[in-house]
Amino acid sequence: MVRFKRRGLLCTPEYRSIYSRNLESLIVKLTTDNGLEGWGEALAPVGPEIPGNIISSLFKPFLLGKDPRQINVIWNKLYDSMRERGYFTGFMVDAITAVDVALWDLYGKSLDLPVHQLLGGAFRSEIPAYVSGLPEKEMAKKIERAQQWKQQGFNAIKLHLGYGIKEDVEIMNQLREHLGADFRLMVDAHWQYTVPDAIRLGRELEKLNIEFLEAPTLPEDVDGHVEITRSLDMAVAIGEAKRTKFQFKERLVKRAADVLQPDVGRVGITEMRNIAVLAETFGIPIAPHLSVGLGICIAATLQVSAAINNFYILEFQPSVFPNANKLVCNSLVCEKGRYLLPDGPGLGVNVDEAFIRENCSNPLLLTNGRRLS
Ligand code: MG
Repeated sequence: MVRFKRRGLLCTPEYRSIYSRNLESLIVKLTTDNGLEGWGEALAPVGPEIPGNIISSLFKPFLLGKDPRQINVIWNKLYDSMRERGYFTGFMVDAITAVDVALWDLYGKSLDLPVHQLLGGAFRSEIPAYVSGLPEKEMAKKIERAQQWKQQGFNAIKLHLGYGIKEDVEIMNQLREHLGADFRLMVDAHWQYTVPDAIRLGRELEKLNIEFLEAPTLPEDVDGHVEITRSLDMAVAIGEAKRTKFQFKERLVKRAADVLQPDVGRVGITEMRNIAVLAETFGIPIAPHLSVGLGICIAATLQVSAAINNFYILEFQPSVFPNANKLVCNSLVCEKGRYLLPDGPGLGVNVDEAFIRENCSNPLLLTNGRRLS
């Protein structure tokens, strides 16, 4: 893997997106006039100030004085506000997401209840997790790391591939050989393949009992995904870059995937639930994407993952998780193949504001919101 350094950005050939060399996220704190605080986070691995500006310029005047419990109303008003100008995804929905997560946190704290209770209750208090990635370059080291995870009680690993059919299959072949027939393995192809090549890759991966093939081709190509999904027996997983139920609807109706992977750091709690319910009507499970989201985002993901009926499995990023936990005083736990669901009020995490102020640039704070009774 070659890494190109360019103005602090991390560009790797197998990723079509750029990421920051640092962990970057959009953190929002909403404060009511009786002193309650709600924390939100949206993924912003490059340019967090862009959705931050949307919040301070567009959303702040709207939000001040509003009843923060009107979460669904606020989501829709914010979404509507720039719709005719074409902003119904990307940075716009990222900004809505940070606010949405903070509103749920506030609502939970106002009632002294965890968000999963507000969403109708928890189907599970332990959230099954798969390890995302084996970053070691050498195959022997990858196998060693995978075996360590297995010893630690994890039974599922997803590989980040897209190096070409031959190399991808060889990597998975070796892992299957060393981890045994029952170990759960998945592949993320990072949008790297044409439709025919994705099908060829999938047919080889099926022979190795790989559980799902993620992001096989370009995310815009709905019909291409339909063809791949129809051609393969193995599950096809998509959706990390999609933001709303409207974007998932076409993919569900056309059956362009077997598993959906919305990211709470991009869709928020409100829309995650909407997407999950919509998917449930098609018999499609939700495996939430979780990449560079930090403690607030992960806590929000756990809250909503617990409350989804058609939940499948959640991503676990070992390289991000310890840093993600630095933002919260009560550490989130992911061990032995599962996350533990935080049970405190709101998102269930106590955000370490001093750490954020010390280590983060330009935290965005909205104050003077309406009092919660
Ligand atoms: Mg992915």
